[in-house]
Amino acid sequence: MNRRDFFGAGAALGVGLAATSLTAGASAQTTEQMDKRAEAKLRICSQVGPAPGKDLAEKLEKIKKYGCEAVEFGGDCVGKGEERLKMCQDAGLEIGAICWGSHNGDLCSEDESKRQPGIDDHKAAIETAGIMKSPGVIYVPAFNGQTKLTNQEIRAWLLEFLPPLAEFAKDCGTNIIFEPLCRYEAYFLRQVADGASIARDVLEKAGIETGIGVMADFYHMDSEETSQMGAIISGGPLLKYVHMAGGRAEPRRTYPGENSMTFVDGFRGLKYIGYQGFCSFECGCAKEDKEQAFQDSIAFLRAQWEQA
Ligand code: MG
Repeated sequence: MNRRDFFGAGAALGVGLAATSLTAGASAQTTEQMDKRAEAKLRICSQVGPAPGKDLAEKLEKIKKYGCEAVEFGGDCVGKGEERLKMCQDAGLEIGAICWGSHNGDLCSEDESKRQPGIDDHKAAIETAGIMKSPGVIYVPAFNGQTKLTNQEIRAWLLEFLPPLAEFAKDCGTNIIFEPLCRYEAYFLRQVADGASIARDVLEKAGIETGIGVMADFYHMDSEETSQMGAIISGGPLLKYVHMAGGRAEPRRTYPGENSMTFVDGFRGLKYIGYQGFCSFECGCAKEDKEQAFQDSIAFLRAQWEQA
């Protein structure tokens, strides 16, 4: 393809031609209206794994005791929505996202026979998220090695199957949430803006305003983004969820505060967009005393929020 053909193909696809409702909405606001710092809240959540405690009941108790507002479950909660909701309500907790993943990349497989079963299972996860009043189902189109499709092919296919699924999520009161990952885990969807732009296109195609969005993971952002604040602002109103872990420095991907990575820059972004969703621990622990480390990390994050 020569340069002229390249630009011709872009025009045929409508790339860059239409002012989107998202950017049009942003342009209509004043600088003061764009600054939503007064509305922002740090609402800490934890996946089950990183929380201290010997079993689920004890973990829920400690998550609540140390000031978190919610717990995040993995895909094992699908079909158990009522039961998990009751358990968490009894513990005084809300429910974060369902960390569902890629379903082995089936939804974006080059083997088309694998796609529909994956889409059906995603739908079941969305239904459970709705029952649990969860903000959404975390979705990774494919980890490295799970599909032979190219970036362009994956994006085009997402725009085919996601609009009705996003509409279903909207009707369930929840969202599909893209998770951008570092290049060591996925070549497709590495930056928050990538996920946000695909979510925007899905919403436009479906003619809806919610039902799909993106999340920011501090560990992955540390490898892929030049500015955590900039990345989060690029997600804007499409940013539905946050994962927290220390970044690339040793000890890698452990509790925030255990390595040298600061959260102040990213928290400035969350404040600016008026983020009120959950920030959830997805990390290991480098210390012997996990219960103390959990409390120390929460204190560290609250101090970083104040500083931001
Ligand atoms: Mg994550």
